[in-house]
Amino acid sequence: MNAPLPEPPAVRTTCPYCGVGCGLLARPDGYGGAEITGDPDHPANFGRICSKGAALGETLSLTERLLYPMLRQGDGRLGRVDWHVALDRVAAGLERILARHGPDAIAFYLSGQLLTEDYYVANKLMKGFLGSPNVDTNSRLCMASTVAGHRRAFGADTVPGSYEDLDQADLLVLVGSNAAWCHPVLFQRMVENKRVRGAKIVVIDPRRTATAEDADLHLAIAPGMDTALFCGVLAHLADRCALDYRYIDAHTIGFENALAQARMIAPDVAATAKLTRLSRADVARFFDLFRDTPHTVTCFSQGVNQSAQGTDKVNAIINCHLATGRIGRRGQGPFSLTGQPNAMGGREVGGLANQLAAHMTFTPEDVDRVRRFWNAPRMAAREGAKAVAMFDAIARGRIKALWVMATNPAVSLPRANYVREALTQLDLFVVSENVLANDTVNAGAHVLLPAAAWGEKDGTVTNSERRISRQRQFLPLPGEAKPDWWIVTQVARRMGFSSAFAYQSAADIFREHAALSAFENGGRRDFDLSALAAISERAFDQLDPVQWPLRAGETPQMDSRFFMQGDFYTPDRKARFIAVEPPAPKVATSRQFPFRLNTGRVRDQWHTMTRSGQSARLATHRPEPFVDIHPADAKAMKLSDGCFANVTTRFGSCVLKVAITEEQRRGSLFTPIHWSDATASAARINDLVMPETDRYSGQPDAKATPASIAPVEFAFRGFALARRPISAPHGAWWTRVAVAGASGLLLATNDGPEIWQTRARQMLGGELAEYIDRQRGVYRAASFAAGELTGCLFIGAAATAPQWDAVKALFAAETLSEEARGVLLSGRSADGLVSAGPIVCACFSIGLATIRAAIEAGAAATIEGIGEALRAGTNCGSCLPELKRLMADAGIEPAAAASRKGGYTRLEAWLIPLDCRRRRESIAAGKKTLRRSARCGGNGRRMQCSSSTTTSTRSARRRCASRSRRRARKRKSTCSPCAATRTSPPTSSSIRAELCLRWFTTARRSWNPRSSSTISTRFFPIRR
Ligand code: SF4
Repeated sequence: MNAPLPEPPAVRTTCPYCGVGCGLLARPDGYGGAEITGDPDHPANFGRICSKGAALGETLSLTERLLYPMLRQGDGRLGRVDWHVALDRVAAGLERILARHGPDAIAFYLSGQLLTEDYYVANKLMKGFLGSPNVDTNSRLCMASTVAGHRRAFGADTVPGSYEDLDQADLLVLVGSNAAWCHPVLFQRMVENKRVRGAKIVVIDPRRTATAEDADLHLAIAPGMDTALFCGVLAHLADRCALDYRYIDAHTIGFENALAQARMIAPDVAATAKLTRLSRADVARFFDLFRDTPHTVTCFSQGVNQSAQGTDKVNAIINCHLATGRIGRRGQGPFSLTGQPNAMGGREVGGLANQLAAHMTFTPEDVDRVRRFWNAPRMAAREGAKAVAMFDAIARGRIKALWVMATNPAVSLPRANYVREALTQLDLFVVSENVLANDTVNAGAHVLLPAAAWGEKDGTVTNSERRISRQRQFLPLPGEAKPDWWIVTQVARRMGFSSAFAYQSAADIFREHAALSAFENGGRRDFDLSALAAISERAFDQLDPVQWPLRAGETPQMDSRFFMQGDFYTPDRKARFIAVEPPAPKVATSRQFPFRLNTGRVRDQWHTMTRSGQSARLATHRPEPFVDIHPADAKAMKLSDGCFANVTTRFGSCVLKVAITEEQRRGSLFTPIHWSDATASAARINDLVMPETDRYSGQPDAKATPASIAPVEFAFRGFALARRPISAPHGAWWTRVAVAGASGLLLATNDGPEIWQTRARQMLGGELAEYIDRQRGVYRAASFAAGELTGCLFIGAAATAPQWDAVKALFAAETLSEEARGVLLSGRSADGLVSAGPIVCACFSIGLATIRAAIEAGAAATIEGIGEALRAGTNCGSCLPELKRLMADAGIEPAAAASRKGGYTRLEAWLIPLDCRRRRESIAAGKKTLRRSARCGGNGRRMQCSSSTTTSTRSARRRCASRSRRRARKRKSTCSPCAATRTSPPTSSSIRAELCLRWFTTARRSWNPRSSSTISTRFFPIRR
């Protein structure tokens, strides 16, 4: 064990979770743990982090880590081998299958968790040297529809805007995005814009999510109808002369067809309301807001992407922005929020089966260009199998070798059971992983390669706004773990490609990646890092976050947005309007399956919980797999809150805890995706998801599988806690929960106390103290070794299920007092404290019951009051939407949280520029400046169209211009520069600087390292 350094330096790195890409400071403690805080200088977050980021220090443990290469032995077990043996086995296996079955028989399945350098070498080996295009990634499940939509509209997979636009927009439209939970730091940035500048937020989501709590308008749209809504917007914009014909004429083609199709789908408010099952008033309000607010950003995420018509949804949104010229300007544009930390980096290197490296595609010119650059002997010349098709090909025996890196397809793909079964067919199944076991590894991996985890690896990632940041190593590599890029290059060298894979460092790979982006580019491709093509090791080491494009010889632009002046990446440099198809669910509901199953995430967990599941703090938010259902549906299906239900589809079934909530739309069910066989008995949600995919992107529809739900009775419930890893009991419903100082299981069962009495001996061992009441169905046991509490098992009747808070606390303590020991089997705490309930504020572990009690006692009458009384909501802000909901439940208007009573605090008065304050005051006074300004064109330059019967852009423009003149005369006002100034947002840089300062100030004020347990202990390799 190493001795701690007196003051270890902080290492600047990047969060490994979502696509926001927050900068972090990691201060290693010298014992293998680290303190994690936000990096105040990183432009993605300016010091802010969410609950997941704040708990990263608790996830560095080496328990369950894969530390050595392993091979499947004759007896079916995995046995440790030397790296040489493992790498030789992979190289020889790939060569054998290539020789016998050709390149189409091999595939790589990669991950948005890989670093760009890892991704680059894997893609190069497969597409350039093994000759197979079968490289796909879990990003296919995340944002492939956005890639396809961007490429159809822009000619390239380009995100036009920046996070700054979220600070500068006057209207933020969130479509299919629970940003409050899935992109918390960005969402807090939007909320800050609303608070400081008065921006409006519209949330379009069938569920009333935490994001909707901060919305000015929530549109609980019918599932899958986003395309109809945005077709309605386009038709409305045309009808109300709110189009930018100058931009349309100069920079786009296909407008007439797209508009005609939009009119056919949703010609007006009434038709749109009918299709989307929204009220006419809400639809009209949204249309007016969109029309009258030039500075509009439309953010979209998985609700748009994970759909069998996801690409059309993306293009319906982009159509509206192209038609208004609201793209590439400050505070304007469509904005895809990516789910994964390096989904964008994967897109840059061609990690998808329908891409080549450096944003090139499978055109003959691009194939030839990449072949020449790589000097590739066997270049793939056509698109490969996308994720769902790839695993179909495995099941059918067409793909015989698969290498999975940093992902868990046996859990995350639709029809996950089928995928798991398919994996058993492989002749060669290689997995590069951090963990010893997960559902994919357990599906029969032949070779298991220990890969470096976050904190141990070094390279780059790209976030949702095209910003490349360094992920830096701050922990030593444990055991024999190696970076993924090293593993791939070693296999490549063994296959005879030494010179093409002679990299010595991540910087070597990055230089080549940057050079390829510049190769024969000449401005024809958006992705250009030529300025970094000769970056030195030292400069790479010190690289600050940078946004591409970074063209050689050009000074980095402050404004790196794309497309304000058109110049798209199509052959004629014009964007394409897309005439989208009418929205319709691919699979209808039926009598047998009357509900639509929607899947998603919870606030404090990530993917299959491999990392986030280690944090006891994060586990307290939503510890069990659950299904959300509307009260009316619950009543019809005879379900009660907190009971269990079997959710079934054509593909499988799960048993989940029922949560009845008005937030859920009638006819829909919502379940989170995080649980697997490793963490729950029956909660592999993707077993239930249908394999329908979008025809353009190949992205599966994870939001609309027809499903049924029925109650499941369990007579008893309980929990088990043990100091050592505890094995799950057969025949019971269980879920694993991270607990401080113990391994925890929540249980539900029909087995009575006697059976559990027998099981207690197997599960807990040691010397048992027991209490049994057969009549009341109660069994409680505690095990001790050398006087120390080592385990507990509590079972009781379901109606009076034992609570574990008091017992859990005993495992967190190092020693057990006599008093605590005395009341242990009562399940009460020795100090009489009541349970805090499910945790709402993960940063300070403040529970629901505590917050409710404070509200009811009058100790907290505002959000700020809760913060002052309990500290909840004062650090990362991830729980603020839930706090607002609790205030609303208690009948307190959350708006009362703003204690300024119509005026401004001194700080705000200082922070908010004068023009912005006046604007907010005038809005408050009902002057509707925004609306008036938009009628007069807003920017003083825009052409206006008039009629719903527009058939040609030219006639529309004429009508528009004359109507505009008439209106201008009538108002005795023109679109003067003065009006434009008044209605435009305040200058971006001043606002941004002020916002940053404000966040930073808040973060520093509320940060208390002693009370936020970011330091975890991690012990170094256990040598055998
Ligand atoms: S928002 Fe949270 S999870 Fe996402 S990058 Fe930032 S800290 Fe990480």
